[in-house]
Amino acid sequence: MLASRTSADTPDTLLDSLKRRIASDGPLTIAEYMDACLGDPVYGYYATRDPFGSAGDFITAPEISQMFGELIGLWCTVIWQQMATPAPVKLIELGPGRGTLMADALRAATHVPEFIEAVQVHLVETSPVLRQMQGERLAASGKTPQWHSSLMAIPEGPAILIANEFLDALPVRHFEHRDGSWFERCIGVSDTGALEYCTTNEPLGDPAIIPLPLRDNAMDGDLAEIRPEADAIMERVAERLKDASTAALFIDYGHTVSTPGETLQAIQAHDFADPLENPGEADLTAHVDFGRLGDVARDKGLQVHGPLPQGEFLLALGLKERCERLMRDADDTTRESLSSGAERLAEPAQMGELFKVMALTGKNLIPPPFTGALAPEEHT
Ligand code: SAH
Repeated sequence: MLASRTSADTPDTLLDSLKRRIASDGPLTIAEYMDACLGDPVYGYYATRDPFGSAGDFITAPEISQMFGELIGLWCTVIWQQMATPAPVKLIELGPGRGTLMADALRAATHVPEFIEAVQVHLVETSPVLRQMQGERLAASGKTPQWHSSLMAIPEGPAILIANEFLDALPVRHFEHRDGSWFERCIGVSDTGALEYCTTNEPLGDPAIIPLPLRDNAMDGDLAEIRPEADAIMERVAERLKDASTAALFIDYGHTVSTPGETLQAIQAHDFADPLENPGEADLTAHVDFGRLGDVARDKGLQVHGPLPQGEFLLALGLKERCERLMRDADDTTRESLSSGAERLAEPAQMGELFKVMALTGKNLIPPPFTGALAPEEHT
């Protein structure tokens, strides 16, 4: 199948293509590498496959249980009512995967028919394979989604935005602290032809791109992981809010306080892999720094609610009650899968603690189950 791709300008694999790029332009930043591994239109991880489920590489909350999307659908109807029921309202999802979360959310939200009537579905997705799956999954909802390659492309107007495990796929950059300066960690090619880490010779010209909590009192050997595209998304949400009522819900795995260190990881066939091996064949992600995102969002005038651990969030929204309700009419196999799904989503030892939920709104909105955003001066 690949025989026709062996000519000089069409490398066989992403690894070959990256090695050529490094030979001609020099080492890649970690962000350039992640971008190519996940998003390359020919060889990129998401561009070429459906990675979810037991046959894929990993499983996400909406694929574990329908209850996840249903509770988020109900959350959307409540926040829409707090927003004074704008119509139309854009329901935006960033990185919708197979479209399962949106399908479950829309189905649960049919309890509020005026909401369903008002909703226009906007999906931010770069993968053509996944766009197609999303279209198929949403066919029964009666809503025809509009697709966009970036949040920046979605027109203004009242919006509710949801994103599950999207931010963790955005590229990160790594910097090492040495002799009072920061040096960017990059990826080059070793003498044996394998990919290897290296650092730039020149120190970073603008240390201000490293967030203060990581820059202050930095010690030699400290590593800073930053994610400029996630900061830009916070800014974009804040901009939308200036024009019209907006609420956003971000769910991801990560930490609540910015700490030195790097968290880049590769997952293939439900197991950890070496991020530098088999580029394009493994999912590459890094923890979300909710501490940083909260700081950027507050700085841009948004109210920041949480982050709360996912388990606490789902239980407060009624996970247990929803599970009991569904179990009442279910056969034994379905009951077992409902109960193990709820456990997996909410148990602290499973996804309940590592995954966090953060909501962003304008003033006057208090999305459930949060009890009000901390004022900037209250936030430490
Ligand atoms: N939210 C889904 C999928 C999470 S995986 C779920 O919970 O199951 C990450 C998703 O983000 C995939 O749909 C992937 O194709 C998409 N994605 C990754 N990087 C992206 C980018 N830069 N822009 C738009 N979509 C992206």
